[in-house]
Order: sequence, then C-alpha cells, then structure tokens
Amino acid sequence: MTEDLSGARVYTAGLLLPEPGGAAVPDGAVLVRDGVIATAGPAREVCAAAGDDVPVTAFPDSTLLPGLIDTHVHLVFDASPDPVSALRAADDRTLLLAMARRAGQLLDSGVTTARDLGDRGQLGAVLREAVAARVVPGPRLLTSGAPLTVTGGHCWYLGGQADSEQEIRRVVRANLAAGASWVKVMASGGTFTPGGPPPWSSQFSRSELAVAVAEARRFGRRVAVHAHGTQAVEDALSVGVDTLEHCSFATSEGAATDPRAAELAPLLARSGTAVCPTLSGALYDARQGSAMKKVVDRVLELVLRLHRQGVSLIAGTDAGMPGSRFDRFGEGLEWFGHAGLSTTAVLETATVNAAAALGLSDRTGRIAPGLDADLLVVDGDPYTDLSVLRRPRFVVAQGRPHLPAGRVIR
Ligand SMILES: [Zn+2]
Repeated sequence: MTEDLSGARVYTAGLLLPEPGGAAVPDGAVLVRDGVIATAGPAREVCAAAGDDVPVTAFPDSTLLPGLIDTHVHLVFDASPDPVSALRAADDRTLLLAMARRAGQLLDSGVTTARDLGDRGQLGAVLREAVAARVVPGPRLLTSGAPLTVTGGHCWYLGGQADSEQEIRRVVRANLAAGASWVKVMASGGTFTPGGPPPWSSQFSRSELAVAVAEARRFGRRVAVHAHGTQAVEDALSVGVDTLEHCSFATSEGAATDPRAAELAPLLARSGTAVCPTLSGALYDARQGSAMKKVVDRVLELVLRLHRQGVSLIAGTDAGMPGSRFDRFGEGLEWFGHAGLSTTAVLETATVNAAAALGLSDRTGRIAPGLDADLLVVDGDPYTDLSVLRRPRFVVAQGRPHLPAGRVIR
C-alpha cells in the first residue's frame, strides 16, 4: 500500500534515532510537511509545534530511523540463478513492469534511495521519472543507463559497448541525453558475462577511464566504476572517480587475494572515493558451501581492513544478481556487522556515508529539518539487534507513507 498524503503528519515512535552515532530520543517524533522534515525531537515538543489539526501516526513500540540507501542495484535483473538469460528473453515493456515491482520491493525492505548501476534501453530513467511523478511507488532513483563496457565485455548486452575514446564520449553523452544521472564504467571484467574478460582483467586503459570521467564532469555528473582487479582499482583511483564498486582486489586466485590491497587502502582513504563492496543477503546462501565460505571470509577481512584504514564504505547489494533479492537489503547490511564494523559504522554505510557519496547529503541520510522525509520504522532497536532491519514495519519515502507487503495497520 502506498498512498499520497499531502499536507502535514506527525510520526511518533518509542525511540527516535535521527542519525547513526547521534543521540537517541526516547518517545521521539518527526513532523513532516509537504514531503519534508519540518522538525524532529521529543514527541511532546514536536506535537506541540505541529498543533492539534495535524494527524499523528504512532509507533509506540518501534524505532524510527532514516530511510536506507542501496547504492548499487540492477532493477533489470531478477535475482534468479540466471538473471542474464531472463533479461535477454524479456522485451522492454515486460521488463519495465518487473522493474516497477522490484522498486516496490526495495521500499518494502526500507530502501528510500537506490542507485541503479546498469539497465537497458534507459528503462531506469523511465522508472525514475514515474516514481518521481508518483505514478508508481518506489525509492528515489539515480540511474546510469547502459554501463560503458568493451565489445563482448562485462554486461555488453545492456548496450553500452565502446572501444575507443571517441566511442566512450558518445556512450556517455547518449546515456546522459536519455536521462541518466550517473555514469557507470565497467573498468574490469566480471562474473556474469560468458566469454567476457575475467574479473581481474582490465577492460579500459587509464586514459580511457580519464575520458569517461572528463565527459561526465563536463555534464556535472558523477562516476561509478566497477573494478575487481587491482589494476582497474588503481586506474580508477588515479583518474578521480566518485565510487568504486566491488573493489575486490581479485586475482586469478579469486576475490580478495591480491596483497596489494594493503598498500592501496591508505590511498583509497585519502582519495575520499567511497567503496561499495556489494554485500548482500545472497552471501548467506553462498556461504553454505565450504569453498565459498573461504571466499566470503576473505572478502569480509578485506572490508574490515578498508574500514579500519579510513575508507568510506557504502552499502549496496547488487540486487538483481543471483540470490540478491530486492527485499533483502537488511541482510546485506548485516554482513558489514559480521565483518567487524560497529553498529554505528554499519548504519553509516546505508545512511550518511551513502548520501555523501551520492551527493545527496542535503536531501537524505539523516532525520533533520529541511531534509526530505525518508523514514524507516522497525520493531526493536537496531543497536541491540541489526536483524530488526530485515522486516520494516513502515516506510516513508520523500513524505509518501508506504506499508510494506505483509504488514498491517494496527
Ligand atoms: Zn552491479
């Protein structure tokens, strides 16, 4: 259920957590006016400021915190064991309807902002506009269109193939002209393209990456770079990209096997480039096998190393990839906790850190006056148990109330 309520509303909760690490407010409240947070604090004060005419929605046994941000999703993929075949079998009209349903699932899981890092036919931009116009429920969307890749390279079938600097400029311009809000570059190979280069191999040279960044900057846009191999990470870092996706320091031995991670981590921290290690609920399934358990453990060790070195980590699930469902965002966050991050640090990856990396600090990521009303209500306190984030009780996205599937109004 999502309904459009204009005007004002007060949300009260047993506990208000305006931002990770900030002071918690027992019996807190948020006053929302025209989709924006007007004031937040102790319920008595907020209700007095709101006046008697403003309706109140009360969650006395729940915690109210900022809506969450998934910085890496692919709405075109269906999270099945073979999402690529499913995608290639679907026409654009069918795909768009499925994407709208998945956007609703993101909301169900507490995600009020999502960055889509690779779609086909600019369907992400179409959906973004539909959500913004309140035609369909969904999180605030940022979209990249077809990621830049080489002919036959990682995710080539999404349509962003470019084999020269001139073609890179053309694909960036075509994406932006069609409404993309980010530029995404596949700097290294990946795991979901049969016949493409392996993850540890670079697809673009440093100078080619520089062209993509320069072209994005010319249009005032930010750049996200998919990089598994160390060379790709290093090249992306040297040309000043905004976010690094995966950043897994992979070699032919697998993810997180290149010891050069130790030497590059301080550089990453100094650069300010945020890293999205794409941890998702799918890891719970993957870790069942003993071979994958070793891989997952290595990746978690790498994530903790990056965090301890001061790298800004941001949450992103690669939703759409096998097992990474759009309604499992909370499970993905838990892996930062399993890696050894404090609960405050875990929550930062999906709120303040993510908002800063996406250039949205003045819009979302905290509960503060003037920011958009992106709110999440969960049963219990995430500081006691992160798993309470798995099943949100209620969500408000840019002021729009949303009752997650399976939840009832009490
Ligand atoms: Zn991805």
